[in-house]
Amino acid sequence: MTQDPMKQKELTSRLLHIVGEDGVLVDPADQDFYVNDWLGKAHGRTVAVVRPRTTGEVSAVMRLCHQTHTPVVPQGGNTGMSGGATPDMSGAQVVLSLNRMKRIYDVDPINNTLTAEAGVILADIQKAAREVGRYFPLSLGAEGSCTIGGNLATNAGGTGVLRYGNTRELTLGLEAVLPDGRIWNGLRGLRKDNTGYDLKDLFIGSEGSLGIITGVVLKLFAAPAGRVTAWVGAQQLDQVVTLLSRLQSACGPRLSAFEMMSGPSLALVTRHLDAHVSPLEKVYPYYALIELADTRMGGLQDMLHTALSTAIEDDLIEDCVVAMSESQSLSMWKLREGISLAQVKAGKAVKHDIALPISSLATFTKEADQAVLSSFPDYPIINFGHIGDGNLHYNVLLPLEVTPDDYKTKTSVLNKRIHDLVAQFNGSISAEHGVGTLRRDELRRYKSSVEMDLMISIKRAIDPNQIMNPGKLL
Ligand SMILES: Cc1cc2nc3c(=O)[nH]c(=O)nc-3n(C[C@H](O)[C@H](O)[C@H](O)COP(=O)(O)OP(=O)(O)OC[C@H]3O[C@@H](n4cnc5c(N)ncnc54)[C@H](O)[C@@H]3O)c2cc1C
Repeated sequence: MTQDPMKQKELTSRLLHIVGEDGVLVDPADQDFYVNDWLGKAHGRTVAVVRPRTTGEVSAVMRLCHQTHTPVVPQGGNTGMSGGATPDMSGAQVVLSLNRMKRIYDVDPINNTLTAEAGVILADIQKAAREVGRYFPLSLGAEGSCTIGGNLATNAGGTGVLRYGNTRELTLGLEAVLPDGRIWNGLRGLRKDNTGYDLKDLFIGSEGSLGIITGVVLKLFAAPAGRVTAWVGAQQLDQVVTLLSRLQSACGPRLSAFEMMSGPSLALVTRHLDAHVSPLEKVYPYYALIELADTRMGGLQDMLHTALSTAIEDDLIEDCVVAMSESQSLSMWKLREGISLAQVKAGKAVKHDIALPISSLATFTKEADQAVLSSFPDYPIINFGHIGDGNLHYNVLLPLEVTPDDYKTKTSVLNKRIHDLVAQFNGSISAEHGVGTLRRDELRRYKSSVEMDLMISIKRAIDPNQIMNPGKLL
C-alpha cells in the first residue's frame, strides 16, 4: 500500500462505503487504543481502524485490501503479550477490529457446542455456557477484555489446560475470511470429521497471518458442581513435580489446575499488593496451588486431604492448607493471579514464557538459575507457571535504576541464555503468548529450516500478496 495521502483518502472512503461512517476511525485520538498495546511496548500508526459488523463486511474489506495491496492487522481485545495486534509505524496498515462482531449464534447443550462471532468477549462465552448449565473452561486473567477470535488466533492457554487443553483442543470449527476476501465456512460442530487436512488448525495459533477468524464453534462441558482448592509449601521444585504426578494418579481427571510459584514470586505479591497474605505461616522455596473439580458435589475435600496428608508423611511436601470456603479459595487464586501486577510494580523484568517436558522442569530450572546468577548474582528470579502443562514463566527482575540501553543489552543476553537452554531441553520459546514481533527473530534461530520452510510455504499459498499482519510471526 502506498503512503500517498490521495490514495489513502480514496481507500478510507471505499472502506466507509463498506462499513458505514461509524465503522471507520480516522481521527488519531479515536485510534489511540488500537495502535498501542496494553503493555506500553508496541506502538504504531494506521490509515484507518475498520470495525465491520458482519462476515460479509469483513469479506468486502479484505477484497479491497487484497486489490490495493493494503496490509491488514487483525485485532480482537488487544490484550496480547507479543505485539501481534499493533500496526507498524508506517501509517500504511489498516487495523481490522472484530470488536463489533459480538453475536452468539447458538448454544446447544445436547451437542455440547457454542457457535459465535469472533468478537465475543471470552467472559460472555463462559456466561452463555453457564446459562444452559454447561461449562466453557478457557479461563485467563484477561477474560473480561480478550475476544474468542483472539484466543483462537493465539491458541490461548490459561489455567484450565491441564484438564481441558489449549484453545485448539476446545475448538470444533471456525469461519475465516481469506486475504482475497473469500469466506471459508467451517462452522461445524463435529467431533469426528476425517475428510482431509484439518484446515481450522492452520488458523488456530496463526496470529492473524493467514486470514481473519470471523466465527467459531466451541466445545462445552458438563458444569463442575464441586470444587476444592489447596495451597502447598515444598522445599524443592522436583518435589512439586512429583506431587503433580501423584495427584494425577490419586484424583484422575478431577485434577483441574496445578500452578507453581517460587518463594520470591509469592514474596513479590505479598510485598506489593494490599490484602494478599500467604496461607502458610512458614516461608518455602516453592508453593503449589491445586484445584480439584467434579460434576458431583462431595468427596473432593476428603480426596485432596488424603492425598496431601500422604505427601506430607512421605516428606514430599512440608505443609498445606485446604480452603474451607469459597472466599479462602479465591484468596489463594488472587495470590497466583497477582504475580504479573506485582512484577510491574517491582520494576522492569526480562520475561520468558516457555514450555518444557514436565519431567525436565526441575533440572532445567537449576541450570537456568546458574546461567542467570553466574553473571547477575543479585537479580531476583521470578519463576511461576501452569506447570501441570509444563509452562514456566521464567522472569528476571532488573534493578529499578536500569537505563533503557542497559535493559536492551541485558534482555538480549538473558533471552539467549534462557532460550538456548530451552532448545537443549527440547522445549518451546513461546508456550502461550505467541510470537508476534516479540519472538519473531528468535523463531528463526530455534526452528529448523524445514519447519520454517513449511510455514513460509503455507503463508505464501494462502496470502500471496503478503497483506496479512506483515512483520508478525514469520
Ligand atoms: C492480565 C492478562 C492475563 C493473560 N493471561 C494469559 C494466559 O494465562 N494465557 C494466555 O494464553 N494468554 C494470556 N494473556 C494474553 C492474551 O489475553 C491472549 O493472548 C488472548 O488470547 C488475546 O486475545 P485478544 O482478543 O486480546 O487478541 P489481540 O491481542 O487483539 O490479538 C492477538 C493476536 O491475534 C490476532 N487476532 C486477534 N483477533 C483475530 C481474529 N479474529 N482473526 C485473526 N487474527 C486475530 C492479532 O492480529 C494478534 O496477532 C493474558 C493477557 C493479560 C492482559
